[in-house]
Amino acid sequence: PVPVVAIDGPSASGKGTVGALVARILGFEHLDSGALYRIVALAALRKGVALDDETSLASIAAALPARFEDGLVLLDGDDVTEAIRSEACSVGASRVAVLPAVRDALFWRQRSYRTGSGLVAEGRDMGSVIFPDAGVKIFLTASVEARAERRYKQLIDKGMAAKMDDLLKDLYERDARDSQRAVAPLKRGDDAVLLDTSGITVQQAVDFVIERASS
Ligand code: C5P
Repeated sequence: PVPVVAIDGPSASGKGTVGALVARILGFEHLDSGALYRIVALAALRKGVALDDETSLASIAAALPARFEDGLVLLDGDDVTEAIRSEACSVGASRVAVLPAVRDALFWRQRSYRTGSGLVAEGRDMGSVIFPDAGVKIFLTASVEARAERRYKQLIDKGMAAKMDDLLKDLYERDARDSQRAVAPLKRGDDAVLLDTSGITVQQAVDFVIERASS
């Protein structure tokens, strides 16, 4: 079977950065599953569908006209790369992600990324639900302060407004919602290796994952 490196962890733990670099180094496909939940939220917001209307959201998820191309995220051909990173989509994604019908609707789509020479899949349930047979399972985390600080720097670098208090509050809220939901809650599985990135560089985190993937 096509090898899978599953990287799960909380918001802003560095999964995206580490996952993309590892995929590039190994020549593997890269699945940012969080982006799919974000696109569902954005599509719903644009259509005026309520974020707790499970049936309508599941149909949106099942027929999501989304593509990942050249580092861009497209919805109906529209470039939504930046839009899905907005606060509204972050909160929206974590709300639609609690709905079992939405998760089911995205199941096979996520599995279909397992092609070519390998896949680096990142999210909350890559190692537990979507690719339980993944050869490498990493649980990437960092202290809530370190994560808020990274997000702060990212926003400031992009010239966007950011308030540390708001970022911390948002991370606490999303962590709580992601880890307390009934389906596929965020938690480290017994078979996942813990990697705390609070005090290490991106390069060190990448090396750690590559080493496990190559052994
Ligand atoms: O990883 P990211 O922060 O982009 O994910 C956005 C939201 O999507 C998360 O807060 C989480 O609620 C949800 N998610 C999920 N399962 C995944 C990936 C993301 O529930 N595999």
